Amino acid sequence: MDFSLTREQEMLKKLAAEFAEKELEPAAAEMDREHKFNEENFAKMAKLGFTGLGIPREYGGSGGGATEKVIVVSEFAKKCLTSAATLSIHSITPGVILKHGTEEQKKKYLPMLTEGGHLAAFALTEPGAGSDAAGVKTTAVYDAETDEFVINGTKCFITGGARASVLIIFAQTKPELGVKGLSAIIVEKGTPGFTSGKIEEKMGLAGSETAELVFEDCRVPAANLVGKEGQGFKIAMEALDGARVGVGASAVGLAEGAIDLSVKYMHERVQFGKPIAALQGLQWYLAEMGTRTETARWMVYYAAYLQDSQKPFTKEAAMCKLAGSETARFVSNLAMQIHGGYGYMKDYPLERIYRDAKITEIYEGTSEVHKVVISRAMLGK
Ligand SMILES: Cc1cc2nc3c(=O)[nH]c(=O)nc-3n(C[C@H](O)[C@H](O)[C@H](O)COP(=O)(O)OP(=O)(O)OC[C@H]3O[C@@H](n4cnc5c(N)ncnc54)[C@H](O)[C@@H]3O)c2cc1C
Repeated sequence: MDFSLTREQEMLKKLAAEFAEKELEPAAAEMDREHKFNEENFAKMAKLGFTGLGIPREYGGSGGGATEKVIVVSEFAKKCLTSAATLSIHSITPGVILKHGTEEQKKKYLPMLTEGGHLAAFALTEPGAGSDAAGVKTTAVYDAETDEFVINGTKCFITGGARASVLIIFAQTKPELGVKGLSAIIVEKGTPGFTSGKIEEKMGLAGSETAELVFEDCRVPAANLVGKEGQGFKIAMEALDGARVGVGASAVGLAEGAIDLSVKYMHERVQFGKPIAALQGLQWYLAEMGTRTETARWMVYYAAYLQDSQKPFTKEAAMCKLAGSETARFVSNLAMQIHGGYGYMKDYPLERIYRDAKITEIYEGTSEVHKVVISRAMLGK
């Protein structure tokens, strides 16, 4: 058993940490305040090859796999959860195309979504289909005359959906088959019949746009089908396993960032004539924060290792997402407590970190759903 990173992974970690400190941290407060997606920083991520992680070089990617993504996403989240989430969620779509796409789809879409700096989105959720993803009602009816799918329906809460150049959407191509009639289809921005609706106002993760998407007789070539017809649910669940490792990684990074701020503050803040670092009550908070974060980190790395080794990792992905997100909430809460009244003020990053932490317990599957996934695996169901 080897717990160390390779030399290349150490270099990647350093590069990601420097980028996060130099580019992401200074922009984080403004993104949060203005509820504004940071195009410049996403373009820089692409230039440095972060958007190409997990994709082979022949398609414009940077190589590497789940472990490399975990390293980068954690480093980003230490300084800005929104930026980490942007990268992590963006990477779902090229990952699906790489695994299930045709050679034409790979050649057409992967270079633009990696080195090309175009944003991608993954659209599964609908007003009536959240945790119950099989309840998707959007339809994609095949038109043999034109060899196209005609898409109708509404998606909601789609990260980057209004801005993305390429989206994978999930729609019923054979509604009579229920979940077995669900298919994954590529839709490009600007396709007639596809518009974005409301951009949600959120509690946190404010620099990430969460959009409603509307499809009204939106026609896409049948060649945009990803995988086979009826494989949509399987593709979505498999993609979400990987995405959950990303959420776990971002949650651990956020917790590490909150710990770093807390340690610094405990040394600086003086009460009763000495730094608050001398107070045992706060020392114990710190010990619990550190222990939980380390526990979650190794779960995240283990899930990424399983994924990279092509071994089953559904249970471990759910576990690391559950543990990571609970840790993020726990740690950000105690970090704010350590900062006292100053932590509650918008002048300090803790207030944003505290609000941002909550989303990790909700998206890419709620904590409750993860408990269902984990217990099912444990019971052999
Ligand atoms: C900021 C943000 C970004 C998002 N980005 C995307 C995206 O890019 N693409 C995308 O497709 N979706 C996205 N989502 C959607 C997200 O994945 C869903 O919100 C999430 O899966 C929960 O679905 P829901 O909101 O409909 O809640 P519901 O499913 O209505 O859940 C309500 C409550 O019931 C509980 N519950 C539901 N089913 C069960 C069960 N079987 N057992 C126990 N408890 C249960 C839930 O845990 C929750 O507590 C995003 C959401 C947010 C908030």
